[in-house]
Amino acid sequence: MGKPTGFLDYNRELPADRDPLERIKDWQEFHEYFNEDKLKEQGARCMDCGIPFCHTGAMIGGMASGCPVNNLIPDWNDLVYKGLWHEAFERLMKTNNFPEFTGRVCPAPCEGACTAGFNGDPVTIKNTEYSIIEKAYEEGWMAPNPPAMRTGKKVAVVGSGPAGLACADQLNKAGHTVTVYERADRIGGLMMYGIPNMKLDKKYIKRRVDLMTAEGITFVTNTEIGKDIPAQKLKEDFDAVVLCGGATKPRDLQAEGREMKGIHFAMEFLHANTKSLLDSSLEDGNYISAKGKDVIVIGGGDTGTDCVGTSIRHGCNSVVQLEIMPMPPQERAANNPWPQFPKVYKMDYGQEEAKELYGSDPRKYCIMTKKFVGDENGNVKELHTVEIEWKKDEQGRFSPVEVAGSEKVWPAQLVLLAMGFLGPEETAIDQLGVEKDSRTNVKTAEGKYATNVPGVFSAGDMRRGQSLVVWAISEGRGAAKECDYYLAGL
Ligand SMILES: Cc1cc2nc3c(=O)[nH]c(=O)nc-3n(C[C@H](O)[C@H](O)[C@H](O)COP(=O)(O)OP(=O)(O)OC[C@H]3O[C@@H](n4cnc5c(N)ncnc54)[C@H](O)[C@@H]3O)c2cc1C
Ligand code: SF4
Repeated sequence: MGKPTGFLDYNRELPADRDPLERIKDWQEFHEYFNEDKLKEQGARCMDCGIPFCHTGAMIGGMASGCPVNNLIPDWNDLVYKGLWHEAFERLMKTNNFPEFTGRVCPAPCEGACTAGFNGDPVTIKNTEYSIIEKAYEEGWMAPNPPAMRTGKKVAVVGSGPAGLACADQLNKAGHTVTVYERADRIGGLMMYGIPNMKLDKKYIKRRVDLMTAEGITFVTNTEIGKDIPAQKLKEDFDAVVLCGGATKPRDLQAEGREMKGIHFAMEFLHANTKSLLDSSLEDGNYISAKGKDVIVIGGGDTGTDCVGTSIRHGCNSVVQLEIMPMPPQERAANNPWPQFPKVYKMDYGQEEAKELYGSDPRKYCIMTKKFVGDENGNVKELHTVEIEWKKDEQGRFSPVEVAGSEKVWPAQLVLLAMGFLGPEETAIDQLGVEKDSRTNVKTAEGKYATNVPGVFSAGDMRRGQSLVVWAISEGRGAAKECDYYLAGL
């Protein structure tokens, strides 16, 4: 444990983020970080709570409660408090392949389940995780560490998001020879081309991929399995195949005028922006620009927030984020008790920036899109909406009911659809004869990763449905373990 009275002696403190009006002028990360003295104090707040929930990763109320990779959080809080950084680093590496990613982008379900948060402020777990791994890089502890022996078994991993990378890392450590195939031109999946640079600087993905390459993993980019290489060929050439292709089919909005120019899926916008940023600092112009435009983002989640932050950095004229669901409560609702993930109102970085710039949170709740209206050239110019109320129907299910007289017209020259994803693309799955579940995700037994095809496994969003980086890492580790047993004939 940390200091016995730490949670009484010190308040929760996080380093202030960069000033919103300054950070929108560039694409650098917006977080700042603490010095070691401050980190020790925050580690000291971890109390001897007997049965900690922060590391459970259990599903409660449909959401993760506690850390999905089961990080040994009380251990490393204590070690950081005592200044034993190398020991903290060793503990962290036992459970999480990529703390430098989760330490930046994880929504930290661990903190929602922290006992200190039951009637006070939780320990700053995510910030400590970030600090341990960044210190490890600074100190040179993250040097390549290839396996001492090779098993002679070959594994193909399809997809290089956090699930594919975690799976490849684990299998490589077990001595198998791993090749990761990625259809994009850069490795990292949605961490590379979904999450924008200001939230996760792409140099940190490259740093990790370079390390994994030095440890013996082969990365093949610009290669789509199912198209450039038939999926069956992988089955013939490798001893096992792990499918980690993500859930990339976007949810569309069936509204009048959807076909107009200027209406895009969020991922078209975000992917092109990061690619152009990395290729040419946006000099090549190969991206969808929000400059000078009134932007409407449809969807109130993380993807929508990233569209808001990106549009602001382009220099949009205005930005509004529409959400069909009601505004979450300021405090936990009675049906969302600790240690569940707290479903409460929070301002994320994009909304903070919009508020500083335009004076208010860009999110508008309980709004439903009715139609898009365009100009004579087919370019979108307006979005027509109506307010809704969520009312129980005869079956007791909540459904949206339009509020009479609440119709509104919003100016919009760019509309970004950020309403989630419907499941994986099916070409490679179908070529292998892999079964799908009712949501079209890859089907496996509950909590397992083997598909109906012997030697073929699946992990991450492709199996689980749209989720989080930390769940993808957890799944990649789980699939690697099953695959390793399979290769060993167990
Ligand atoms: C805009 C956005 C922001 C997000 N922000 C956060 C966040 O802040 N925090 C968080 O925890 N989560 C966030 N998420 C969710 C998180 O990124 C995903 O849950 C996670 O990346 C899923 O990992 P994965 O490895 O399963 O799949 P992905 O990351 O989707 O990677 C799959 C990869 O497989 C490749 N691929 C697919 N099919 C083939 C094929 N046939 N051949 C070769 N390659 C193929 C794809 O190109 C892709 O690179 C965000 C998601 C989006 C869209
Ligand atoms: S990975 Fe996420 S849930 Fe786990 S300790 Fe880190 S921030 Fe918390």
